[in-house]
Amino acid sequence: MPAGSHRFQVGTLWCTVLSDGYVANPAAWYFPNAGQVELAEALASHGPDRETVISPYTCLLVETGSEVVLADAGMGNASNTSGAILARLEVAGIRPQDVTTVVLTHAHPDHIGGAVDWRNPVAPLPMFPNARYVMAEAEWDFWTSARVDLRGLRVDGAVKAAMPFTARRCLQALRHQVELIGRETEIVPGIRALPAPGHTPGHLALLLSSEGCQLLNLGDAAVHPLHLEYPEWQNGFDADPGRAVATRRSLMERAAADRMHVMAFHFPFPSVGRVAAGAKGGWDWTPGW
Ligand SMILES: [Zn+2]
Repeated sequence: MPAGSHRFQVGTLWCTVLSDGYVANPAAWYFPNAGQVELAEALASHGPDRETVISPYTCLLVETGSEVVLADAGMGNASNTSGAILARLEVAGIRPQDVTTVVLTHAHPDHIGGAVDWRNPVAPLPMFPNARYVMAEAEWDFWTSARVDLRGLRVDGAVKAAMPFTARRCLQALRHQVELIGRETEIVPGIRALPAPGHTPGHLALLLSSEGCQLLNLGDAAVHPLHLEYPEWQNGFDADPGRAVATRRSLMERAAADRMHVMAFHFPFPSVGRVAAGAKGGWDWTPGW
């Protein structure tokens, strides 16, 4: 497991990044259109393993003084390398009943699985009983439609097949507490949800701002620092790869222009850092706060 948590402030917003765990997947899933030689060299610059990507799950807790907001809830205990979120919250002094808002950037299992209490797997319950669960209407509609179109994904068939099952089970459990948004929306004072489609149709990014300090949470608009360095490199988990690349570019241009701190759910823990224009038409990632 990566280190558990890291605390920092965005103006008056107390933020804590919390690790739910990680997954190890073939590198090819994350970079399906990258040239093999270029990819091997680029991966070597980030670590010893060129075949496998260790992909952390990092949730964001924001305490505003009146609200306790959790951005993404992790995978839950569906794998033996995830499901730490409740323990991390407890160490941060937060009980499930204290959480007032859960924002779901999207409904992939590694983001929504931990939002649900699976002790009764047939009829799971919301993990955070007093929270409203905010997500995009387009995301709800996508996963609850009669035929979920995942043809754009270039990952293992079993991984693909599990996605609609988990999403539907979770959304069914959350249906009485969900709040759907259709456009850019201020969720609580200082936290705005920005439509960021492509990874999924209703994928959201989050912009935190307070006292002149800004943090842009990309969600899964980029899932590896190489997606910033080489912005044309697609992610095999994207439902609409072309749209995802355009979204990523526009978010990154905004982040660089406004000198924002940036967070991404799957970047190496603590998953926060700064960006600056890079040599290859993209952005270089400098981790840390
Ligand atoms: Zn993800």
